[in-house]
Amino acid sequence: NKVILLNKRPHGIPKLSDFQITSEEIPTAKNGELLLKTAYVSVDPYLRGRMNDAKSYVPSFELNKPIQSGIIAEVVESKHADFKKGDFVSGSLDWKEHQTSNGKGLHKVSSSDAKLSSYLGILGMTGLTAYLGLTEIGVPKEGETIVVSGAGGAVGTVVGQIGKLLGCKVVGITGSDEKAALLTSTFKFDHAINYKTNPDIKEAVKSTCPEGVDIYFDNVGGEISDAVLANINKYARLPVCGAISLYNETEVPLGPRLQPIILTKSATMRGFIIGDLSEKFPAATKQLTSWLNDGKITFAETIVEGFDNIPQAFLDLFEGKNKGKMIVKI
Ligand code: NDP
Repeated sequence: NKVILLNKRPHGIPKLSDFQITSEEIPTAKNGELLLKTAYVSVDPYLRGRMNDAKSYVPSFELNKPIQSGIIAEVVESKHADFKKGDFVSGSLDWKEHQTSNGKGLHKVSSSDAKLSSYLGILGMTGLTAYLGLTEIGVPKEGETIVVSGAGGAVGTVVGQIGKLLGCKVVGITGSDEKAALLTSTFKFDHAINYKTNPDIKEAVKSTCPEGVDIYFDNVGGEISDAVLANINKYARLPVCGAISLYNETEVPLGPRLQPIILTKSATMRGFIIGDLSEKFPAATKQLTSWLNDGKITFAETIVEGFDNIPQAFLDLFEGKNKGKMIVKI
């Protein structure tokens, strides 16, 4: 039974040697417990923060202990009244091939309602983040212009599609021509900007959004965000969802001072942690499921195969190797 432990706290960009694959006996389920077999593992940028020894909104991972993330697992043995053998569940679980659970925090998911892996993406945390971050904090109005960074990833692809459904113009910023093409074809964005090949992102945002930016859904932070902020309209809303370009910094980076822009544009910049909006999850999930079933939104996944490849799949997020949600299939 393979297990992946945090071997070292990464310094800067994480490396494979920061993880260790070990093995243990397959545990047995006691009364009131389940034995779970991991089927799909979500790797997410926020896990990087949990690898630091710093206080945050979720506890740090401990050294030489298993890493955890969103996992879909199959119940292979049940001594728990609410679950039976063959059920699939979703929850925050250890990076282990098999593990026991008392069922707390697990939700049953069904492959007849949706693709199992989609409960880690569009019907899971990333879909909720996109939907609630955009609608609750961005508050889009028909005819407005939305710019989304990290647009080719799990959250970004969903934000853009919802923006289009709500009658907005949507421009995505991403790191490859292939992803840019995917945004304007499959995901119906109006324009896509490749930040790796475009020498002047501020100018690229200005020329694709001559009317200015009403909502900036920020997944990346840093210089890309500085360039978008230079183009915002009066009363712009800026949901700060993520800052992946800064997660591996070892020193606090200094950028332009934002206060004059926020002040003169009467703009609202607001960070959010999706777990804090949990009372809105049932209605949001219902809306996302109905859009998905009606073919109004779709999703992309990059599926990596094999338990041993979980750490590499995580590292690949920082290289932009995923289109849509990065998932490891076991
Ligand atoms: P993604 O699927 O978007 O994967 C990460 C992407 O980030 C990569 O594919 C890459 O795409 C891009 N990226 C990596 N490094 C950089 C960089 N230095 N500069 C710019 N872009 C970079 O991840 P998610 O959709 O799961 O998450 C998106 C963001 O949302 C993250 O910052 C995450 O932490 C945050 N998040 C926040 C939540 C909250 O509660 N606030 C909940 C969930 C996610 P590219 O090819 O474009 O470079």
